[in-house]
Amino acid sequence: MALIVQKYGGSSVADAESIKRVAKRIVDTRRAGHDVVVAVSAMGDTTDELLELANQVAPIPAPRELDMLLSSGERISMALLAMAIHSMGFEARSFTGSQAGMITDSQHGAARIVDVTPVRLREALDEGAIVIVAGFQGFNRDTRDITTLGRGGSDTTAVALAAALDADVCEIYSDVDGVFTADPRVVPKAQKLDHVSTEEMLELAANGAKVLYIRAVEYARRHGVLIHARSTFSSAEGTYVLGEGMKNPREAEGAVMEEPIVAGVATDFSHAKITVAGVPDVPGKAADIFKIVAKSGANVDMIVQNVSATGRTDISFTVPKADAAAALKALAAEQTEVGFQNLVHDDQIGKLSVVGAGMRTHSGVSATLFEALSAGGINIEMISTSEIRISVVLRGDDLAEAARTVHTAYGLDGDAEATVHAGTGR
Ligand code: ADP
Ligand code: ASP
Ligand code: MG
Repeated sequence: MALIVQKYGGSSVADAESIKRVAKRIVDTRRAGHDVVVAVSAMGDTTDELLELANQVAPIPAPRELDMLLSSGERISMALLAMAIHSMGFEARSFTGSQAGMITDSQHGAARIVDVTPVRLREALDEGAIVIVAGFQGFNRDTRDITTLGRGGSDTTAVALAAALDADVCEIYSDVDGVFTADPRVVPKAQKLDHVSTEEMLELAANGAKVLYIRAVEYARRHGVLIHARSTFSSAEGTYVLGEGMKNPREAEGAVMEEPIVAGVATDFSHAKITVAGVPDVPGKAADIFKIVAKSGANVDMIVQNVSATGRTDISFTVPKADAAAALKALAAEQTEVGFQNLVHDDQIGKLSVVGAGMRTHSGVSATLFEALSAGGINIEMISTSEIRISVVLRGDDLAEAARTVHTAYGLDGDAEATVHAGTGR
């Protein structure tokens, strides 16, 4: 008998029928003799709809109240799921994040889990119940307020529960069969990966592959949790995310698995580019600019600076679209002080990233990328690299086509089209 944590995302519980399907899956796991703890997301696109509603009543909703609102989505699905399980003759008990002992820091909208005290969950398990926990939410001890963990945060809830309860596996159920070599909505020939290393998954998640939330993968790495990403809509095995020293449960004893050089391609439409034009080319100006941007709360991703011929230079950087307005406002306020000439805002960019641990030991990976883009007539605007990733910024309109071209160039195309079972891709 194992302890299994299962997480069901919004598209898995979008309506009553889907909730019943999930309930059956949970009950089947219980019937097989396992203890089951479930983290559940809000139904369908509920969180987006609640956000829109908030924006209709206030341009900048108070963070505390926004968390009160958004956390209600998961309360609806957890109670409905418990009811559906009851009606199948099984005992289930739902808990909010705070009842489940999900203790976080006080940062509304992006809280981090600092402790998990699952006393009530253990009691319920000991009494033979299936435990359902509202994902995406926690509680801060100092402010005594409800917090949320950031968009996609139900994945983190599940991993944190798996760590605290010492579960055998954390199964993350979604509308795709696992982690693919690219987003199957963008690259239909993407293939499901049997397994992926934690470090590769972190890079993919950080660069747009939202199938797993980056903080959940980080948490799993720190606490040695085995993640199995799989589909609610099929019984096929999914993808194992393997930390250092972790064994692939599917791998026969002693078998050596050959690792491809490139694990996958990620696409990201969520950033905007800001160009600070005509910056005096003297020491200290970049420091001034990025101090201002940091103070605005914007999270800078890529940076490029042009060579200057005239004593002035242009500095471009990318930030999440949601942070761009604050960064622009802060920079504009300091224009005279810094001495730049003007600001340009471009929110029509896309980022393409190629990720693979094999890049450490193989040369020519970037040449393949640049050749493929050039053959496709696609212009590159910015480039950045890490040890196991190459990213390029392109026109947003070119991104999907570029991803397909590059996917083919690395030999990642599968024979059949990947299935996306549900969801709106929102
Ligand atoms: P959930 O609502 O279950 O949390 P998400 O929408 O957050 O699901 O994540 C699943 C989606 O992630 C898929 O529908 C797919 O479009 C997208 N996705 C992006 N990159 C990948 C990838 N490399 N592999 C699989 N899915 C991906
Ligand atoms: N419901 C939240 C969101 O849409 C959390 C999650 O689904 O993981 O971001
Ligand atoms: Mg998700």
